[in-house]
This record gives sequence, structure tokens and C-alpha cells, in this order.
Amino acid sequence: HLFSILAIGICYACTPMPDSSSSKDQQVLDLMRQMTLEQKVGQMTQITLGKFHENGKLDTKALRHAIIEKNVGSILNTNGSPLSVAQWHELLTTIQDIATKETPLQIPILYGIDAIHGTSYTQGSTLFPHNIGMGATRNTDLVSASTKITAMEVRASGIRWNFDPTLGIGRQPLWSRFEETFGEDVYLTSLMGGRAINAYEEDGLKNITAVASCMKHFIGYSVPLSGKDRTPAYIPDIQMREYFLPPFEAAVANGTSTVMINSGEVNGIPVHASKYYLQDILRGELGFEGLAVSDWEDIIRLHIRHQIAATPKEAVKIAVNAGIDMSMVPMDYSFYDYLIELVNEGEVSQTRIDEAVYRILKLKFDLGLFDNAYPEPAATANFGKPDYAEVALNAALESITLLKNENQILPLGKDTKILLTGPGAHNIGALHGSWSYTWQGDNEAAYHTSTLTLKDAMVAKIGEDQVISNATANYLDAENTNTAFVRNNANKVDVIVLAIGEKAYAESPGGIDDLTLASDQLALVEAAIATGKPVVLLLAQGRPRVISSVEPGVKGIMHLYRPASQGAKATMEILFGDYNPNGKLPFTYPKNTGDVILYDRKNSENFKESEPDTYGLGGFSPQWSFGHGLSYTTFAYSDLKLDKTTLAGEDSIHISVNVSNTGDRDGLVAVELYVSDLYASVTPSEKRLKRFKKVEIKQGNHTQVEFQLAKNDLSFINQNSQRITEEGEFTVMIGDQKENFFYQK
Ligand code: BGC
Repeated sequence: HLFSILAIGICYACTPMPDSSSSKDQQVLDLMRQMTLEQKVGQMTQITLGKFHENGKLDTKALRHAIIEKNVGSILNTNGSPLSVAQWHELLTTIQDIATKETPLQIPILYGIDAIHGTSYTQGSTLFPHNIGMGATRNTDLVSASTKITAMEVRASGIRWNFDPTLGIGRQPLWSRFEETFGEDVYLTSLMGGRAINAYEEDGLKNITAVASCMKHFIGYSVPLSGKDRTPAYIPDIQMREYFLPPFEAAVANGTSTVMINSGEVNGIPVHASKYYLQDILRGELGFEGLAVSDWEDIIRLHIRHQIAATPKEAVKIAVNAGIDMSMVPMDYSFYDYLIELVNEGEVSQTRIDEAVYRILKLKFDLGLFDNAYPEPAATANFGKPDYAEVALNAALESITLLKNENQILPLGKDTKILLTGPGAHNIGALHGSWSYTWQGDNEAAYHTSTLTLKDAMVAKIGEDQVISNATANYLDAENTNTAFVRNNANKVDVIVLAIGEKAYAESPGGIDDLTLASDQLALVEAAIATGKPVVLLLAQGRPRVISSVEPGVKGIMHLYRPASQGAKATMEILFGDYNPNGKLPFTYPKNTGDVILYDRKNSENFKESEPDTYGLGGFSPQWSFGHGLSYTTFAYSDLKLDKTTLAGEDSIHISVNVSNTGDRDGLVAVELYVSDLYASVTPSEKRLKRFKKVEIKQGNHTQVEFQLAKNDLSFINQNSQRITEEGEFTVMIGDQKENFFYQK
């Protein structure tokens, strides 16, 4: 399709069309006809704002050089710290002034940012729980609501392109970016990622409530074999299509405008060089027509890290020929210089350049940048509205997951005397995680003026007299600062609450060698248990850290994930019983560091009776399963009914179940439907999540929950890498209810 447009465009070059007949595509082509090779290659070049900053001051000379001499078409990021809305406007006005008034073709700059869980680089924005917490909510409406606010606050900042959402699935918890994923499940990720993209773009990119989204990181980024960021992944084609591709398919179906490429390599081929992934799959199979941007400095890395290019120039040739349309952050202007040479030498075709530039300019037109490149005053009215905090609070409330509640130790009474300590007890970074006003997250709390710490929120909830705490704002090591404090003060309190887990980190600095929780923190928990007082753990962490050595000794455990700006408040609502928890784990919580076996593993429990345990269970013995999450009430499932015993052809099967609130509190519950395929030509998964619905049920009441499944929900990738549904028997599972049915072609 694109090629035919370009072909027509080339033909139009000989017979100029009258302006009145210009469609949007025509506008792009008209502009392209006026462009020199240098101007086109400049559009493919994206530079970081950091390059134009000297001692915190904008270097306008360097900026002019980039935009005017090097024809740079896109800029990203900040200089390391967040700007106010007014500062963003000033900056973008300066940038767009240069681009639209001082260059011959007046092409506006496309500015991109990482607003990963809220508008992370604008002061005073609303930060929402990281995706890992959103996955726990099992509430796609919360994803829509929070992402829509992010779209509005990014746009209000004058920026129109957001590098979000992350669609890699979290199946390697050592990986430092686990918290940016919606968890380990492909269905949950596809659904939530799709809703995020919809919220970013559905109003139309010209609208002041929209931004261009970016599905990332295509593809296979989230499962480095070593666990270390940007290191190789090995993913057979069947697995790729079964688990990793569907969220990107959903993203394309939901109309995402751009894609960012995985920095790492898959099966020995850097994705930035892979024609298979970038052309055959992304363009061919997925039919994606938008812009493909590299990740950070990744083109040069084809030479310096991956060593598939003998020279930096060859790296540019390989990446552009493989399908990269825009280079994010060349270290210098070498990408620009080499690419011009490569085209002149015939090593990269003019057609490839035109294809890339078409996509870039098309997005600029779609975003309305040619109508008005400047920050839109009307958009600022959508920044920082008071009700945004409520959405953030609801998201935190529905994400926080009650993992353990021995003898109903929780909720705590408001008259309980509490010793609160641990490295996360008075630290903002642990609540916000990565991409929170700074890339690494703001462990020093320099910018989080409105976020409460857990200690602040606890004091606000039950009063200063009830809380004994030595917690400090820094994420200190637990042993030296806290162990003695716990021993010395335990006799003054009823319960010890420890906020442990991880400080904020992002990307490679967040690498760990061992999933086991830091030893000083385990020692702190042991010291607390040794006092004989009941111990409750608040886990503020981006990935499951192994705590099996201390878990038996503690009475209550809440997983907070990275609950962000309203996270401490939400935690206290749950801890003291003003809110009934309903989050469910979006990942399998391992019991041992080397024990990462996922809920939808191949190898079935169905056969445990006929096989020794090691075969039947495949070693599956997690601390807590995917989907685990307690409530202060109890729910019972009954009357699972299927409207037919055989699903045929394209028909669908209707499934209903009765869910009762059998406890003494109202509550929300995510009702989850799993399916298992009993026999298949590729080893079936133990079970797969296929549907979920969050419902509220008042105490003593019950409700009927209904689902539909069709042929495609029973499909899988076969040995020939094709998605098929095979005839045979399937089991539907909801709660403790199970029913079998057949599929027949
Ligand atoms: C990350 C991307 C991010 C980019 C721009 C990279 O290091 O991998 O996710 O969008 O930086 O900041």
C-alpha cells in the first residue's frame, strides 16, 4: 500500500497537483518532493535534549546546529530532571521556533518522552502504579483512565509522542524492567496494553487529549536468558508467537502509531538487524504501517556490542536496511553522516529512505504539528486536575495484593500500637519505582512534593501516638539502622510492620544476581520475628524477591508493587480495613531464586497420579501462584454451567458461574476463567487465563458471572508456527469449579 502511494508520489513529481486536491498523504508526498537527501536523513535522526545542555543551561547554539545544519527532526527526553509545565512550554517554543522559522522547509520537531506510569518528567503530574500493579488490578478500565490522564498531561506539557506502553511479558523476574510489564500472562498484557494504546490515541492525534503511543520493545526484550537488561534472549518461533507476539498484535489492532525496537538480540540476531522481525513479522504479518524508532544508541551497538557490523557505518547500513526508520540518539552525528554517504554509494536505497521519511512526516501531520507545532494553551487546562489523584488512588487500592493473612491478623485495629520500620518505610523511591521524575526514580524525594511516605500515611491514619518509627527518607540498609531499633522497642507495641523490598531502579542499574531479598532485610525480618510480636510485611518492590526463609514466621504480607503517588494512602486504607483488598498477583511468586516456573507452564498436573512428582508437577511449587490474592471477605463459587457440551466451528460457548460473598464484608473480586487443553499436538499448557471480570458483591449476596469463549480462545501455535484450534476436549476452570467440553470443527 505504502509503496503504491510512493510510486504515485514519484509520478506526481512530474505533474504537480493543485493544492485543493491535497489529501493528507498527498501533503506528505508534496513535502518530500521538496526535500534534499540531507533533509530526509535529518528527519530520521533523533537527538537527546541532554546533548544541548551545558551546566543545566540550554545551549541554543548546539540546538541550532542540530536543527539547521544537521536537519534533525526529532528530540527526546529531559536533561535528567523534570521540568514544570511552563518550563516545558518555554523549551518547546524555543525548539519549534528554530525548526519552523529558521529552516527552509519549516518542518516541526517531533518531541518524544517516557511517560511510563504517568507523566514522569513533568513536575506536579500524577503518577500511577507501574504496569505490574495495573496487572494486579485485573481492571482494564483503570488502565484506560490512568493512561488517558497521562495522555492529557503529556500533551499539556507540549509533548505529543510517548514511548509507552511496554508490552514485553514479565517471565524473567531477575530482569530490572519487570515492573514495567503487566506481568507474566499474555492475555492480560494484550488486553491492558491494548487499552493503554486506545486511551492514548482514540481521540485522534490532533486532539489535545491524545498523544502518539509507542509499543515497545519489539520483540523478545523481556526475557533475557541471563536476567540482565539488554542481554540475549533465546525464543523459539512457537514460543515467540504463543507468548510474545500477541500483545503487539493487539497493539497494532488498537492503532498504535509507533514501535520501539528491542535493544537486545533474539536467537543470536540483534533485533535492530533482523529483517525477519522488522519486515516479515512487523510489516508483513502484523501489517503495521507506523514509524519504527530504534532504542537508545542501539544502531552503533550493532558494531560495538553485537559485532555483526565491522564498522559503525556498516551498522547504520544494516539497521536502516533492516527497517529502522529513526535512530534514537546517535552519540554524535555519525548516523546522519554515514547514512548520507550510504545512500550516495548505493548501499541504502532512496526508496528505503523515502519509506522511513514518509512514516515520520505522516505522523507529524497526523499529530497536527504542521498546523501548530507549539504547546497548546487549551491543553494545559487538562494538567493536574484534582480528580486525577482519585484515579491514582483507585488504581493503587485495586492493585495492592494481600498475600498472607494468618489468623486474620489484618486488618489492624486503628488503636493498634505499631512499630514501623524498614528501608521503605519513609522512602518515596520505593513507592514510585523507576521513571518517576528521574530515569532511575527519585530515591531522594526531591520532586515528590505531594506523595506521602508509608510513615506519613500511617501517622495520618491512626495518629502519631500509635506509631513508633525510626524510618528515614533514605533507602538505608536495613541491618545497621533498624535491627537494634526493633529489638529495643518491640515491647512497647502490639504489631511490627516492616516496609521492605527494593529501592527505585531502572534498566541496567537495576540488575541483580539473585532473586532472594537482600540479606540485611531478611535479618531485619528475623529480628522482628524473634521479638515474638506479630510481624506484617509491606513489600514495595518491582519484582518478586524471594522471602521463603522468613515467610513462615510472619503473620501478614501485602504486596504493594510500585503503587506511586497515592500508594501509601492506599496501603493504609487496606492495612486498617477501610478498604477490602482485591488485587491478584500478575506473576508467579517464586519460592526459591532458581525456581522460576510459571503458572501456564507446559507439563501438566493432570498426570500427577500416574507419574512421580518430579514429572507430574514439573517442580512447580511457588510461594504464591499467579492469580493469588486474599480478601477480608470470602467468596465461594458454584453452579459452573456451560450451554453446550460441544462447541462446533465458529460458534461460541456460553459459560456462567455463581459467585457468593460468604464473609462479612462487601468486596470486589476478579473472577478468572482458565482453560486447559487436555491433548494437543504441541504440549499444552497446564492452564491459560482466557477471561476475567471484576465484580462487586455485597456481603451475603451472590452474582452470576457470564463469559463467552470461541474457537480462537482455544487456539495455539502448532509445530509449523501456525495458529490453529485442534479438535478435542478442554476444561474450563473458575475458582474451584471445573467443567469439560469438546471442540469440533
Ligand atoms: C529505554 C526505552 C526508552 C528510551 C528513551 C531506553 O534506554 O530502553 O524504553 O524509551 O531509553 O528514554
